[in-house]
Amino acid sequence: MSLLIRGVAILPGEGPFIPEGFILIDGDRIRALGPGTGLAADEVRDAAGMVAIPGLVNVHTHLALSTFRGLADDVRLFAFLAETRKRWGTATMEETFAAARAGCREALHSGTTCLYDSHAISPQPVAMAGRDVGMRVVGAGSARSTWFGAPARDTFADVLRETEATAARYARRDLMYVPSLAAHSPYHCTAEQIQRVKTVCRERGWVFAIHLAECEEEVQLIRQWTGKTPAAYLDSLGVLDERTLLAHAVFLDVDDIGRLAHRGSHIAHCPKSNAKLGDGVAPVPECLRAGVSIALGTDSMVSNNTLDMLEEMRFGALIHRGVHRDPTVITARTMFEMATLAGARAVGLDREIGSLRPGKKADLVLLALAPPLARTEESVLSELVFHATSRDVRTVIVNGRIVLDEGECLDAPAATRRAPEAE
Ligand SMILES: [Zn+2]
Repeated sequence: MSLLIRGVAILPGEGPFIPEGFILIDGDRIRALGPGTGLAADEVRDAAGMVAIPGLVNVHTHLALSTFRGLADDVRLFAFLAETRKRWGTATMEETFAAARAGCREALHSGTTCLYDSHAISPQPVAMAGRDVGMRVVGAGSARSTWFGAPARDTFADVLRETEATAARYARRDLMYVPSLAAHSPYHCTAEQIQRVKTVCRERGWVFAIHLAECEEEVQLIRQWTGKTPAAYLDSLGVLDERTLLAHAVFLDVDDIGRLAHRGSHIAHCPKSNAKLGDGVAPVPECLRAGVSIALGTDSMVSNNTLDMLEEMRFGALIHRGVHRDPTVITARTMFEMATLAGARAVGLDREIGSLRPGKKADLVLLALAPPLARTEESVLSELVFHATSRDVRTVIVNGRIVLDEGECLDAPAATRRAPEAE
Protein backbone atom coordinates (compact mmCIF):
# COMPACT_ATOMS: atom_id res chain seq x y z
CA MET A 1 0.00 0.00 0.00
CA SER A 2 1.51 3.32 -1.04
CA LEU A 3 0.41 6.84 -0.20
CA LEU A 4 1.42 9.98 -2.05
CA ILE A 5 1.07 13.34 -0.30
CA ARG A 6 1.48 16.17 -2.75
CA GLY A 7 1.36 19.95 -2.93
CA VAL A 8 2.82 20.12 0.58
CA ALA A 9 5.56 22.29 2.11
CA ILE A 10 8.11 20.00 3.75
CA LEU A 11 10.30 20.82 6.76
CA PRO A 12 12.23 17.56 6.79
CA GLY A 13 14.45 18.17 9.83
CA GLU A 14 17.43 17.01 7.77
CA GLY A 15 18.19 18.42 4.36
CA PRO A 16 16.74 21.48 2.66
CA PHE A 17 13.25 22.91 3.15
CA ILE A 18 10.89 22.18 0.24
CA PRO A 19 8.31 24.98 -0.32
CA GLU A 20 6.08 22.71 -2.40
CA GLY A 21 6.67 19.04 -2.99
CA PHE A 22 5.62 15.45 -2.37
CA ILE A 23 6.18 12.61 0.08
CA LEU A 24 5.76 9.05 -1.13
CA ILE A 25 5.11 6.50 1.61
CA ASP A 26 5.43 2.82 0.83
CA GLY A 27 4.21 0.56 3.62
CA ASP A 28 5.77 1.79 6.85
CA ARG A 29 8.57 3.84 5.28
CA ILE A 30 9.20 7.00 3.31
CA ARG A 31 10.25 5.94 -0.17
CA ALA A 32 10.87 9.36 -1.68
CA LEU A 33 10.32 13.04 -1.11
CA GLY A 34 11.21 16.18 -2.98
CA PRO A 35 9.97 19.10 -5.02
CA GLY A 36 7.42 18.45 -7.77
CA THR A 37 4.34 16.25 -7.83
CA GLY A 38 5.90 12.81 -7.32
CA LEU A 39 5.06 9.42 -8.75
CA ALA A 40 1.96 7.28 -8.88
CA ALA A 41 0.62 5.64 -5.71
CA ASP A 42 -2.33 3.56 -4.50
CA GLU A 43 -3.70 6.61 -2.67
CA VAL A 44 -3.04 10.24 -3.50
CA ARG A 45 -3.68 13.09 -1.08
CA ASP A 46 -3.66 16.70 -2.05
CA ALA A 47 -2.18 18.64 0.87
CA ALA A 48 -1.96 22.07 -0.73
CA GLY A 49 -1.33 24.76 1.86
CA MET A 50 -0.23 22.25 4.49
CA VAL A 51 3.18 21.80 6.06
CA ALA A 52 4.70 18.36 6.71
CA ILE A 53 7.09 17.90 9.62
CA PRO A 54 8.62 14.83 11.25
CA GLY A 55 6.46 13.46 14.07
CA LEU A 56 7.40 15.01 17.40
CA VAL A 57 9.22 12.84 19.97
CA ASN A 58 8.24 13.37 23.61
CA VAL A 59 11.10 11.91 25.66
CA HIS A 60 9.61 12.07 29.15
CA THR A 61 6.08 11.00 30.07
CA HIS A 62 4.21 9.02 32.71
CA LEU A 63 1.03 8.12 30.84
CA ALA A 64 -0.34 6.21 33.83
CA LEU A 65 -1.05 9.58 35.46
CA SER A 66 -3.06 10.94 32.53
CA THR A 67 -6.40 10.76 34.33
CA PHE A 68 -5.13 12.53 37.49
CA ARG A 69 -4.90 16.01 35.97
CA GLY A 70 -5.31 18.69 38.64
CA LEU A 71 -4.42 16.32 41.49
CA ALA A 72 -1.38 18.21 42.81
CA ASP A 73 -1.26 21.63 41.21
CA ASP A 74 0.37 23.68 43.95
CA VAL A 75 2.91 21.51 45.75
CA ARG A 76 6.65 21.01 45.49
CA LEU A 77 8.08 17.86 43.92
CA PHE A 78 8.57 15.68 47.01
CA ALA A 79 5.00 16.32 48.20
CA PHE A 80 3.83 15.83 44.60
CA LEU A 81 5.48 12.38 44.49
CA ALA A 82 3.77 11.33 47.74
CA GLU A 83 0.42 12.62 46.51
CA THR A 84 0.51 10.98 43.07
CA ARG A 85 1.82 7.70 44.48
CA LYS A 86 -1.38 7.27 46.51
CA ARG A 87 -3.31 7.30 43.25
CA TRP A 88 -1.20 5.24 40.85
CA GLY A 89 -0.29 2.87 43.65
CA THR A 90 -3.90 1.69 43.89
CA ALA A 91 -4.87 1.89 40.20
CA THR A 92 -5.83 -1.36 38.48
CA MET A 93 -4.24 -2.45 35.21
CA GLU A 94 -7.49 -1.51 33.45
CA GLU A 95 -7.43 2.00 34.93
CA THR A 96 -3.78 2.44 34.02
CA PHE A 97 -4.49 1.26 30.49
CA ALA A 98 -7.38 3.73 30.18
CA ALA A 99 -5.14 6.55 31.44
CA ALA A 100 -2.36 5.60 29.05
CA ARG A 101 -4.81 5.46 26.17
CA ALA A 102 -6.18 8.92 26.98
CA GLY A 103 -2.60 10.20 27.18
CA CYS A 104 -1.62 8.70 23.83
CA ARG A 105 -4.65 10.25 22.16
CA GLU A 106 -3.91 13.69 23.56
CA ALA A 107 -0.27 13.38 22.53
CA LEU A 108 -1.27 12.49 18.96
CA HIS A 109 -3.36 15.65 18.74
CA SER A 110 -0.27 17.82 19.22
CA GLY A 111 1.66 15.94 16.53
CA THR A 112 3.57 13.55 18.78
CA THR A 113 4.30 10.23 17.10
CA CYS A 114 6.75 8.69 19.59
CA LEU A 115 7.03 8.97 23.33
CA TYR A 116 9.27 7.64 26.06
CA ASP A 117 7.28 6.52 29.06
CA SER A 118 8.31 5.13 32.42
CA HIS A 119 6.02 3.77 35.07
CA ALA A 120 6.38 1.82 38.29
CA ILE A 121 6.56 -1.92 37.70
CA SER A 122 4.95 -2.66 34.32
CA PRO A 123 5.17 -0.90 30.96
CA GLN A 124 2.51 -3.26 29.61
CA PRO A 125 -0.55 -0.94 29.85
CA VAL A 126 1.39 1.77 28.05
CA ALA A 127 2.64 -0.62 25.35
CA MET A 128 -0.91 -1.79 24.83
CA ALA A 129 -2.33 1.74 24.74
CA GLY A 130 0.33 2.75 22.20
CA ARG A 131 -0.62 -0.14 19.96
CA ASP A 132 -4.31 0.65 20.37
CA VAL A 133 -4.02 4.30 19.45
CA GLY A 134 -1.17 3.93 16.96
CA MET A 135 1.49 5.76 18.98
CA ARG A 136 5.12 4.62 18.89
CA VAL A 137 6.24 3.94 22.46
CA VAL A 138 9.59 3.40 24.09
CA GLY A 139 8.36 2.10 27.43
CA ALA A 140 10.11 1.32 30.68
CA GLY A 141 9.33 -0.11 34.05
CA SER A 142 10.87 2.13 36.69
CA ALA A 143 12.64 0.45 39.61
CA ARG A 144 12.96 1.85 43.11
CA SER A 145 14.30 0.58 46.42
CA THR A 146 14.17 3.47 48.91
CA TRP A 147 11.78 6.25 49.85
CA PHE A 148 13.95 9.35 50.22
CA GLY A 149 16.68 7.20 51.72
CA ALA A 150 14.41 5.16 54.03
CA PRO A 151 14.24 1.45 53.24
CA ALA A 152 11.43 0.49 50.86
CA ARG A 153 10.57 -2.58 48.85
CA ASP A 154 13.09 -3.26 46.08
CA THR A 155 10.99 -3.52 42.93
CA PHE A 156 13.84 -4.38 40.55
CA ALA A 157 12.95 -8.07 40.10
CA ASP A 158 9.27 -7.27 39.45
CA VAL A 159 10.11 -4.43 37.06
CA LEU A 160 12.54 -6.57 35.08
CA ARG A 161 10.11 -9.47 34.86
CA GLU A 162 7.29 -7.20 33.68
CA THR A 163 9.49 -5.33 31.22
CA GLU A 164 10.72 -8.60 29.71
CA ALA A 165 7.19 -9.99 29.50
CA THR A 166 6.02 -6.77 27.80
CA ALA A 167 8.97 -6.91 25.40
CA ALA A 168 8.17 -10.52 24.52
CA ARG A 169 4.57 -9.58 23.80
CA TYR A 170 4.82 -6.20 22.12
CA ALA A 171 8.35 -5.57 20.82
CA ARG A 172 8.27 -6.33 17.10
CA ARG A 173 10.34 -5.42 14.07
CA ASP A 174 7.93 -2.54 13.43
CA LEU A 175 9.42 -0.76 16.48
CA MET A 176 5.98 0.40 17.61
CA TYR A 177 7.02 -0.75 21.08
CA VAL A 178 10.66 -0.60 22.11
CA PRO A 179 11.63 -1.81 25.60
CA SER A 180 13.69 0.22 28.05
CA LEU A 181 14.37 0.21 31.76
CA ALA A 182 14.47 3.04 34.28
CA ALA A 183 15.69 3.60 37.82
CA HIS A 184 13.40 6.17 39.39
CA SER A 185 15.94 8.61 40.84
CA PRO A 186 18.98 8.92 43.09
CA TYR A 187 16.63 9.47 46.07
CA HIS A 188 14.34 6.48 45.40
CA CYS A 189 17.07 4.01 44.41
CA THR A 190 20.20 2.72 46.10
CA ALA A 191 23.51 3.09 44.26
CA GLU A 192 23.58 -0.65 43.81
CA GLN A 193 20.12 -0.66 42.23
CA ILE A 194 20.94 2.16 39.81
CA GLN A 195 23.99 0.19 38.66
CA ARG A 196 21.98 -3.02 38.38
CA VAL A 197 19.39 -1.36 36.15
CA LYS A 198 22.10 0.17 33.94
CA THR A 199 23.89 -3.18 33.68
CA VAL A 200 20.73 -4.87 32.40
CA CYS A 201 20.23 -2.04 29.89
CA ARG A 202 23.80 -2.49 28.65
CA GLU A 203 23.30 -6.23 28.27
CA ARG A 204 20.02 -5.84 26.37
CA GLY A 205 20.95 -2.74 24.35
CA TRP A 206 18.15 -0.75 26.01
CA VAL A 207 18.10 2.96 26.80
CA PHE A 208 18.50 3.59 30.54
CA ALA A 209 16.50 6.44 32.05
CA ILE A 210 16.53 8.16 35.42
CA HIS A 211 15.21 11.41 36.93
CA LEU A 212 18.11 13.68 37.83
CA ALA A 213 18.62 16.94 39.69
CA GLU A 214 14.99 17.94 39.38
CA CYS A 215 14.61 20.09 42.51
CA GLU A 216 16.73 21.81 45.12
CA GLU A 217 15.74 19.36 47.88
CA GLU A 218 17.16 16.51 45.78
CA VAL A 219 20.47 18.32 45.37
CA GLN A 220 20.66 18.84 49.14
CA LEU A 221 19.85 15.19 49.90
CA ILE A 222 22.38 13.78 47.47
CA ARG A 223 25.05 16.18 48.68
CA GLN A 224 24.31 15.16 52.27
CA TRP A 225 24.52 11.45 51.42
CA THR A 226 27.42 11.45 48.97
CA GLY A 227 29.15 14.84 49.10
CA LYS A 228 28.50 15.14 45.36
CA THR A 229 26.10 16.85 42.99
CA PRO A 230 23.47 14.44 41.60
CA ALA A 231 25.20 14.37 38.18
CA ALA A 232 28.64 13.78 39.72
CA TYR A 233 27.14 11.04 41.87
CA LEU A 234 25.68 9.21 38.83
CA ASP A 235 28.98 9.62 37.03
CA SER A 236 30.79 8.04 39.98
CA LEU A 237 28.44 5.04 39.61
CA GLY A 238 29.55 4.62 35.98
CA VAL A 239 26.04 4.88 34.53
CA LEU A 240 26.45 7.92 32.29
CA ASP A 241 26.93 7.14 28.62
CA GLU A 242 25.27 7.87 25.29
CA ARG A 243 22.47 5.39 26.06
CA THR A 244 21.43 7.23 29.23
CA LEU A 245 18.44 9.59 29.33
CA LEU A 246 18.37 12.03 32.23
CA ALA A 247 15.02 13.62 32.99
CA HIS A 248 15.01 17.30 34.04
CA ALA A 249 18.65 18.09 34.98
CA VAL A 250 17.59 21.49 36.32
CA PHE A 251 20.53 21.74 38.72
CA LEU A 252 23.85 21.30 36.95
CA ASP A 253 27.05 23.16 37.76
CA VAL A 254 29.79 23.89 35.24
CA ASP A 255 31.56 20.61 35.99
CA ASP A 256 28.31 18.65 35.62
CA ILE A 257 27.68 20.19 32.22
CA GLY A 258 31.20 19.23 31.10
CA ARG A 259 30.63 15.73 32.46
CA LEU A 260 27.37 15.22 30.53
CA ALA A 261 28.91 16.58 27.33
CA HIS A 262 31.87 14.22 27.73
CA ARG A 263 29.72 11.17 28.46
CA GLY A 264 27.25 11.89 25.67
CA SER A 265 24.21 11.36 27.91
CA HIS A 266 20.92 12.96 26.87
CA ILE A 267 18.78 15.36 28.84
CA ALA A 268 14.99 15.15 28.73
CA HIS A 269 14.27 18.85 29.15
CA CYS A 270 10.78 19.43 30.64
CA PRO A 271 10.47 23.22 30.96
CA LYS A 272 6.75 23.40 31.77
CA SER A 273 6.85 20.73 34.47
CA ASN A 274 9.92 22.35 36.04
CA ALA A 275 8.20 25.74 36.05
CA LYS A 276 4.87 24.45 37.38
CA LEU A 277 6.50 22.60 40.28
CA GLY A 278 8.57 25.67 41.08
CA ASP A 279 11.79 23.70 40.51
CA GLY A 280 13.56 26.26 38.37
CA VAL A 281 14.81 26.63 34.82
CA ALA A 282 17.36 24.15 33.46
CA PRO A 283 20.63 25.63 32.13
CA VAL A 284 19.77 24.67 28.56
CA PRO A 285 21.69 27.38 26.66
CA GLU A 286 24.80 26.57 28.69
CA CYS A 287 24.36 22.85 28.00
CA LEU A 288 23.85 23.42 24.28
CA ARG A 289 26.98 25.57 24.11
CA ALA A 290 28.93 22.76 25.81
CA GLY A 291 27.57 20.20 23.34
CA VAL A 292 25.18 18.33 25.64
CA SER A 293 22.40 16.51 23.78
CA ILE A 294 19.02 17.94 24.78
CA ALA A 295 15.63 16.53 23.86
CA LEU A 296 12.18 17.68 24.93
CA GLY A 297 9.55 16.11 27.18
CA THR A 298 6.28 17.13 28.76
CA ASP A 299 6.42 14.96 31.88
CA SER A 300 3.08 13.72 33.18
CA MET A 301 -0.41 15.19 32.88
CA VAL A 302 -0.21 16.05 36.61
CA SER A 303 2.94 18.19 36.55
CA ASN A 304 2.17 19.62 33.11
CA ASN A 305 -1.59 19.21 32.61
CA THR A 306 -1.10 18.65 28.88
CA LEU A 307 1.07 16.38 26.74
CA ASP A 308 1.24 19.06 24.08
CA MET A 309 4.66 19.18 22.44
CA LEU A 310 3.83 22.27 20.37
CA GLU A 311 3.12 24.12 23.59
CA GLU A 312 6.28 22.66 25.15
CA MET A 313 8.42 23.96 22.27
CA ARG A 314 6.93 27.42 22.61
CA PHE A 315 7.22 27.53 26.40
CA GLY A 316 10.84 26.34 26.20
CA ALA A 317 11.76 29.01 23.69
CA LEU A 318 10.07 31.76 25.71
CA ILE A 319 11.26 30.91 29.19
CA HIS A 320 14.95 30.72 28.30
CA ARG A 321 14.73 34.03 26.43
CA GLY A 322 13.00 35.60 29.40
CA VAL A 323 15.37 34.26 32.02
CA HIS A 324 18.46 35.18 30.00
CA ARG A 325 16.96 38.47 28.80
CA ASP A 326 18.25 37.49 25.37
CA PRO A 327 16.03 36.68 22.35
CA THR A 328 18.90 34.87 20.60
CA VAL A 329 19.61 32.38 23.37
CA ILE A 330 17.21 29.72 21.97
CA THR A 331 15.89 29.81 18.42
CA ALA A 332 12.77 28.22 16.96
CA ARG A 333 15.08 25.90 15.01
CA THR A 334 16.77 24.71 18.20
CA MET A 335 13.41 23.93 19.84
CA PHE A 336 12.26 22.09 16.71
CA GLU A 337 15.46 20.01 16.67
CA MET A 338 15.01 19.18 20.36
CA ALA A 339 11.48 17.98 19.67
CA THR A 340 12.42 15.84 16.65
CA LEU A 341 15.89 14.48 15.80
CA ALA A 342 17.44 15.06 19.25
CA GLY A 343 14.46 13.24 20.74
CA ALA A 344 14.90 10.33 18.35
CA ARG A 345 18.60 10.20 19.29
CA ALA A 346 17.80 10.29 23.01
CA VAL A 347 15.56 7.22 22.72
CA GLY A 348 18.01 5.40 20.43
CA LEU A 349 15.86 5.57 17.29
CA ASP A 350 17.50 8.32 15.21
CA ARG A 351 18.27 5.92 12.36
CA GLU A 352 14.56 5.19 12.06
CA ILE A 353 12.64 8.33 13.03
CA GLY A 354 13.14 12.03 13.90
CA SER A 355 13.39 13.41 10.36
CA LEU A 356 11.79 12.94 6.96
CA ARG A 357 14.24 11.06 4.77
CA PRO A 358 13.84 8.23 2.27
CA GLY A 359 14.29 4.90 4.05
CA LYS A 360 13.16 6.19 7.43
CA LYS A 361 9.90 5.23 9.11
CA ALA A 362 6.93 7.26 7.89
CA ASP A 363 6.19 9.13 11.15
CA LEU A 364 4.97 12.57 10.11
CA VAL A 365 2.50 15.32 10.77
CA LEU A 366 0.55 17.59 8.42
CA LEU A 367 -0.34 20.99 9.84
CA ALA A 368 -2.58 23.69 8.45
CA LEU A 369 -0.43 26.64 9.52
CA ALA A 370 -1.56 30.22 9.09
CA PRO A 371 -0.85 31.57 5.60
CA PRO A 372 2.61 33.10 5.86
CA LEU A 373 3.92 36.25 4.26
CA ALA A 374 6.26 33.95 2.38
CA ARG A 375 6.61 30.21 2.81
CA THR A 376 10.27 29.95 3.76
CA GLU A 377 12.03 27.65 6.20
CA GLU A 378 12.27 30.51 8.72
CA SER A 379 8.59 31.44 8.45
CA VAL A 380 7.52 27.81 8.93
CA LEU A 381 9.79 27.35 11.96
CA SER A 382 8.46 30.59 13.41
CA GLU A 383 4.83 29.55 12.88
CA LEU A 384 5.46 26.12 14.29
CA VAL A 385 7.19 27.20 17.49
CA PHE A 386 5.66 30.60 18.23
CA HIS A 387 2.11 30.21 16.94
CA ALA A 388 0.90 26.70 16.09
CA THR A 389 -1.45 24.81 18.42
CA SER A 390 -2.85 21.31 18.34
CA ARG A 391 -5.87 22.71 16.45
CA ASP A 392 -3.54 23.15 13.47
CA VAL A 393 -2.59 19.46 13.46
CA ARG A 394 -4.71 17.93 10.70
CA THR A 395 -3.17 14.52 9.95
CA VAL A 396 -0.75 12.30 11.86
CA ILE A 397 0.92 9.29 10.28
CA VAL A 398 2.80 6.74 12.38
CA ASN A 399 4.64 3.80 10.85
CA GLY A 400 2.99 4.58 7.51
CA ARG A 401 -0.53 4.43 8.96
CA ILE A 402 -2.85 7.42 9.24
CA VAL A 403 -3.78 7.50 12.94
CA LEU A 404 -5.29 10.99 13.14
CA ASP A 405 -7.12 12.68 10.30
CA GLU A 406 -9.10 15.90 10.05
CA GLY A 407 -8.04 16.45 13.65
CA GLU A 408 -9.68 13.19 14.84
CA CYS A 409 -8.01 10.05 16.20
CA LEU A 410 -8.70 6.94 14.13
CA ASP A 411 -8.16 4.19 16.63
CA ALA A 412 -7.26 0.60 15.93
CA PRO A 413 -10.11 -1.81 15.11
CA ALA A 414 -12.36 -2.52 18.08
CA ALA A 415 -11.08 -6.11 18.09
CA THR A 416 -7.77 -4.98 19.58
CA ARG A 417 -9.38 -2.59 22.05
CA ARG A 418 -9.33 -4.52 25.29
CA ALA A 419 -7.69 -4.01 28.62
CA PRO A 420 -4.53 -5.98 29.38
CA GLU A 421 -5.00 -9.07 31.50
CA ALA A 422 -4.60 -8.58 35.22
CA GLU A 423 -1.16 -9.64 36.42
ZN1 LIG B 1 9.21 12.03 35.49
